[in-house]
Amino acid sequence: QNGKLTGKVALITGASSGIGEATALALAQEGAAVALVARRRERLEELAQKIGEMGGQSAVIVSDLAQGGQAATVVQQTLTALGRLDIVVNNAGIMLLGPVAGGDPSDLQRMMDLNVTALMHLSQAALEVMKPQKSGHIVNISSVSGRGASPLSAGYSASKWAVGGFSEGLRQEAKQDRIRVTVIEPGVVATELTDHITHTQTKDMYEGRIKDMVPLESEDIAAAVLYAVTQPERVNVNELLIRPLDQG
Ligand code: NDP
Repeated sequence: QNGKLTGKVALITGASSGIGEATALALAQEGAAVALVARRRERLEELAQKIGEMGGQSAVIVSDLAQGGQAATVVQQTLTALGRLDIVVNNAGIMLLGPVAGGDPSDLQRMMDLNVTALMHLSQAALEVMKPQKSGHIVNISSVSGRGASPLSAGYSASKWAVGGFSEGLRQEAKQDRIRVTVIEPGVVATELTDHITHTQTKDMYEGRIKDMVPLESEDIAAAVLYAVTQPERVNVNELLIRPLDQG
């Protein structure tokens, strides 16, 4: 295999569905060996098989990142299985939309634990490897909700604004070690993301809104990740905001 990422190792969280799965495939198609991280082992193994059939290399790493204390283990498992670490795509996330008043406090906690804390801890663990090798790329998947906010998305927006703030600070800090940081902000993408919304009225309303538009496909965001990580080393793609044409 001779692709733009041949010889590189990429760790992708939330690789069992949606944007993470499409990103793993896109990076593997360009020759990267990919560490596939999520909770659903079967889905990861199906993806690993597909990548193997393409002639690619991967490792399945089952981890509940929201539990805390997983980051160093996940990075170590990647090194053990694939030998190095060049790219981390912090993609695992949940979007538990709903009102602030009367909403479930544990929804807010779950979003902060996965969307924010897990992303920051995995970035820290990756830097332990990337700093000494003086190269690396951390790609954080935020959202249009990381750029704006609206009713029923206050908690989700809080988590994604945090991703933006963390990424910008990290970008400035990490560049001295030749480590690049990219934040990607998708608009509506057709994935399983809405399945987990616990506030039924909000879920119905949001899914109804999606039916009235042509949403992005996961592959559209995977293409953006691939673009960012295949630029020459002097290029640091800081931020990409991608909406479906139909989205306001
Ligand atoms: P999916 O629900 O399809 O994917 C989410 C992924 O995160 C799954 O692979 C899931 O795997 C994983 N995940 C969830 N909880 C955990 C956990 N505790 N530990 C480890 N992995 C976990 O949704 P998307 O592909 O849409 O979401 C990917 C990212 O894109 C998210 O950060 C989301 O906020 C962001 N985004 C999505 C948009 C959209 O419209 N779809 C728009 C803007 C941003 P498993 O369940 O197997 O653990």
